[in-house]
Amino acid sequence: MCIFCKIAKGEIPCYKIYEDNDFLAFLDLSQATKGHTLIIPKKHYDNIFSLDEKIDIMLPVVTVAKALKKSLKIDNINMINNNGPLAGQTINHFHIHLIPRYDNDKVSLNFGENSFTAEELKSLSETIAKEINSK
Ligand code: 5GP
Ligand code: ZN
Repeated sequence: MCIFCKIAKGEIPCYKIYEDNDFLAFLDLSQATKGHTLIIPKKHYDNIFSLDEKIDIMLPVVTVAKALKKSLKIDNINMINNNGPLAGQTINHFHIHLIPRYDNDKVSLNFGENSFTAEELKSLSETIAKEINSK
């Protein structure tokens, strides 16, 4: 059983913030900033590619985000979700990070830059849309 499944079952302790039948939110042990929280479905999904698209994870995510805003008096949050090792996923149980942002915190997010022509963007969008429309 994975470590987040064990947390969801209460076999490993966590600093719990929110719980309902399907979801659990708890503090990330390594706090990127004060209040850094993870939201997980209690059911195991490796990552976004195996996630049931019908689960309503935005309910706990928004609930926790609003609670962080009020309780910590912050107005900025990054919502981050890593899928696969190249994307930085280290725990293979789907989770969403909420990272409150503060003036001069140490968080660094860099999307980098790429340049595509209009034609390339059109072709790219069509390739992806075709996959969706073939379903
Ligand atoms: P990922 O890199 O997979 O997106 O994020 C995994 C996160 O889980 C990391 O930020 C890491 O600090 C956190 N983490 C790993 N093990 C534990 C644990 O046992 N308890 C808690 N609360 N967080 C953990
Ligand atoms: Zn799991």
